[in-house]
Amino acid sequence: MAETASTPVSLVEQVYDRLRERVALGRERLGRPLTLAEKILINHLRDAHSQEMERGRSYADFDPDRVAMQDATAQMALLQFMTAGLPEVAVPTTVHCDHLIQAKVEANIDLKFALDVNSEVYDFLRSVSAKYKIGFWKPGSGIIHQVVLENYAFPGGMMIGTDSHTPNAGGLGMVAIGVGGADAVDVMTGFPFNVRWPKLIGVHLTGSLSGWSAPKDVILKVAEVLTVKGGTGAIVEYFGPGADTITATGKGTICNMGAEIGATTSLFPYDENMAAYLKATRREEIADLANGIAQHLRSDPEIELDPERFFDQVIEIDLSTLEPLINGPDSPDLAHQVSDVGAWARENGVPTNVSSALVGSCTNSSYEDITRAASIARQASANGLRAKTQLLITPGSEQVRATIERDGLLADLEAIGGTVLANACGPCIGQWDRTDLDPSKVNTIVNSYNRNFPKRNDGNANTKAFVTSPDMVIAYALSGTLEFNPLTDEVDGVRLEPPVGEDLPAQGFDPGESGFVAPPDNTSNINVVVAPDSERLQLLEPFPGWDDEDYIDLPVLMKAKGKCTTDHISAAGKWLRYRGHLENISGNLFLGVINAFTGAAGEGKDPLDGETRSFPDIAKHLSEAGQRWCAVGDENYGEGSSREHAAMEPRYRGAVVIFARSFARIHEANLKKQGILPLTFSDPVTYDQIGEDDRISVLGLADLSPDTPVRCRITKPDGATVDFETVHTFSPEQIEWFRAGSALNIIRAKQTG
Ligand code: SF4
Repeated sequence: MAETASTPVSLVEQVYDRLRERVALGRERLGRPLTLAEKILINHLRDAHSQEMERGRSYADFDPDRVAMQDATAQMALLQFMTAGLPEVAVPTTVHCDHLIQAKVEANIDLKFALDVNSEVYDFLRSVSAKYKIGFWKPGSGIIHQVVLENYAFPGGMMIGTDSHTPNAGGLGMVAIGVGGADAVDVMTGFPFNVRWPKLIGVHLTGSLSGWSAPKDVILKVAEVLTVKGGTGAIVEYFGPGADTITATGKGTICNMGAEIGATTSLFPYDENMAAYLKATRREEIADLANGIAQHLRSDPEIELDPERFFDQVIEIDLSTLEPLINGPDSPDLAHQVSDVGAWARENGVPTNVSSALVGSCTNSSYEDITRAASIARQASANGLRAKTQLLITPGSEQVRATIERDGLLADLEAIGGTVLANACGPCIGQWDRTDLDPSKVNTIVNSYNRNFPKRNDGNANTKAFVTSPDMVIAYALSGTLEFNPLTDEVDGVRLEPPVGEDLPAQGFDPGESGFVAPPDNTSNINVVVAPDSERLQLLEPFPGWDDEDYIDLPVLMKAKGKCTTDHISAAGKWLRYRGHLENISGNLFLGVINAFTGAAGEGKDPLDGETRSFPDIAKHLSEAGQRWCAVGDENYGEGSSREHAAMEPRYRGAVVIFARSFARIHEANLKKQGILPLTFSDPVTYDQIGEDDRISVLGLADLSPDTPVRCRITKPDGATVDFETVHTFSPEQIEWFRAGSALNIIRAKQTG
């Protein structure tokens, strides 16, 4: 099915058609009422009749309704997809060009510059999208999550996105999960999305927001309660009478920033605010369908009566007493009331004067956000006030930009000194060419974004970033100091009234210039554009299949000591530029790994000539010599992000086995998908027995079968041998991946018959 500029009604009908029956089945199997998250999960199970559903334990296969990818993560995902040989993606999919636009001057100049410097990446994404029936959203059309909320999200749906703030769509009652590229490739090729059945955290909202308190304060409060790890492995489900008082885009803000507490996703129950938003964004038919099945787009009534029985944890928040918060610096869970933050900053050596104030990001760039911010700006202008700091505004989408321009809101913000940037991520992801101050001086910024770890916004560890609501960002811009509390203080003799917002434009949304490029009907003559000498993109060759032989005398390229995350295996930072070029990004392989033999980071002894070299240079040397190799990890090898490069790079350079004391589950699965054998020592002591000059053999591979240990042998330099046993988690299907050389090779083989 070719992708369209919004979710087709037929797709929503399919999801709702089976919802009643699946809810009944879920209640029967679990023997109790269901929360909304459970209803949606059960409705998207590949096998709803026999799949285990034990929270925090079972792994389940789901069929999401759609996939969304941003331009940085889409590159390798699509390069992999191409090797599967499929004529088109298996589920509706979109690509959004938002991360690569650098904020420097203002929207038009910055966009032009981005089109120029990123042209080859954009040309590739556009051509590959056209070829495989993927919807392509051009640079300037908006930030992925705002575009998804405006066009694709729907109550009761399930989607995955290759970006951590995908849960933004929970504002429209969707289970929307941020994933790595490998999961996106799975779903685009027709495999299920496999994830651990989440725990459930309920947030019971009562009362209603007023004055300077905004939806952002709800998630800033939840972050304070749960901390940055408290939501890990859980879906955060909001409920209660307070939930229905928050607008759809306000709900989106809250769900979006659930990523900062590590939650799998967050969501709200369907209500009139969602229906109104669907209608305002030209999706009346979907609102009507949702109204027809509304009771199944909310938790069963018993849940709210006795939430402790159904959630693993319940948090109570009375919106009527919630005060405006500002969280930071360096961590999004470090909450302060605006009345206290000035004193806290003074006591902790953080500058109280604000150097820059920024409104925007996928978290807070809706029409409602901008109307609230502009209402304060208008008061300021009327009293002759201007921003005392730099003030930067990034609209979330072209639709929001065109509408706020038409309604005079951009002019309100520009009148107090605001500069409007492109409809993109910009400073939220470090795409900020900042020249306004000396980077060696510690400085404070306030923004309405979500993440505020050091260097996130301007690449400068001396910048202390605080996150707060757009309203408070404007207040700080006008006062220029964290000491200011608009609830009690005046700025230059002027008392600012609380912000006033409109959740939806009275004249309707102005869609602006369309940024959507639909795939053509006939894709046979489309060539995917990748220059052979490109630094940033490289077409992938399928990995070779297993040669039916045991692996004999593999050199040990590296043995990791202690923590070895996917970031240690494949670093980010400057290497992000090469995310679409497997050979070039392999220049970072294992650079962050601590060598267990020497204690040095990122280097070891080349088994071919005994020289000390960087791990990526050794891997290249071995690969060019046609020498297969293995590596050894410690506990929980490959924890962290689900970055597929951490599995693809070793495979590309000739790794065939990774041994470890234990594996992080997602990375272990990624290794299997790329045709590498992840083997766990049956006896952890084996790790200590492996020496720098040893060779390791893996025996009996022809008999590789589920739940059967694999025999291995260490051969010492003097010829002595040590036999040891390993275990694995391969299923019969995954063993076929190993034999074929990768999971995608299986799909390609099916295509070619
Ligand atoms: S605006 Fe920020 S948080 Fe949102 S998608 Fe872009 S980089 Fe990520």
